[in-house]
Amino acid sequence: MSQVLPASISAALFHERADAIAAAARELAQHGWTPATSSNFSMRVDADHAAITISGRDKGKLGRDDIMLVDMDGKAVGTDSRPSAETELHTQVYRRWPEINTVLHTHSRTQSVASRLFAKDGVVKLQGWELQKAIHGHTTHESVLDIPVFPNTQHMPELVAQVDAWIDAGKPLHAYLINGHGIYTWGRDMAEARRHLEALEFLLVCELDLRRLNA
Ligand SMILES: [Zn+2]
Repeated sequence: MSQVLPASISAALFHERADAIAAAARELAQHGWTPATSSNFSMRVDADHAAITISGRDKGKLGRDDIMLVDMDGKAVGTDSRPSAETELHTQVYRRWPEINTVLHTHSRTQSVASRLFAKDGVVKLQGWELQKAIHGHTTHESVLDIPVFPNTQHMPELVAQVDAWIDAGKPLHAYLINGHGIYTWGRDMAEARRHLEALEFLLVCELDLRRLNA
């Protein structure tokens, strides 16, 4: 592996994170949520570093060597590999919330279609679904779970600014869609982030089904 680690990070710790990311990515790829090498996944390693998928790799075939270290500005650390173009969106989450340790981003068909459908509203308002309780802090189906839909751009600082503006307005944020693109969500550990991603995928399928049925 060409990854050189800072003295403060043990190989065992980095390998544990890399293996967890690769395993999750392989499983999510099996759902068809990471088409054509898209999507990216990361885990916090320490206060100043995260492990993240290297750009352009097939997410269904990831191994330890497909994961690299970045700092919290999204810059590569100890490797010539190129991190995902969207790395800044991951490190933004780690900078904003010290308790968050995993960020997942996928491009499923459902996420992509829902993002287009709800882009005009700028938000998907989820209410009345039992599965909202899978989201941290939501204890009842009666709560409203807002998933913002931000315009897509290839210029990451614009997206970072939109996410910052939402958070700075004091609105809760557990996930967001990017129009025509996919979803970002996160959790305190991999299990929580996976639960959030799977619940949101399910809820978006339900919302799309309701519209298909004109219900
Ligand atoms: Zn993406």
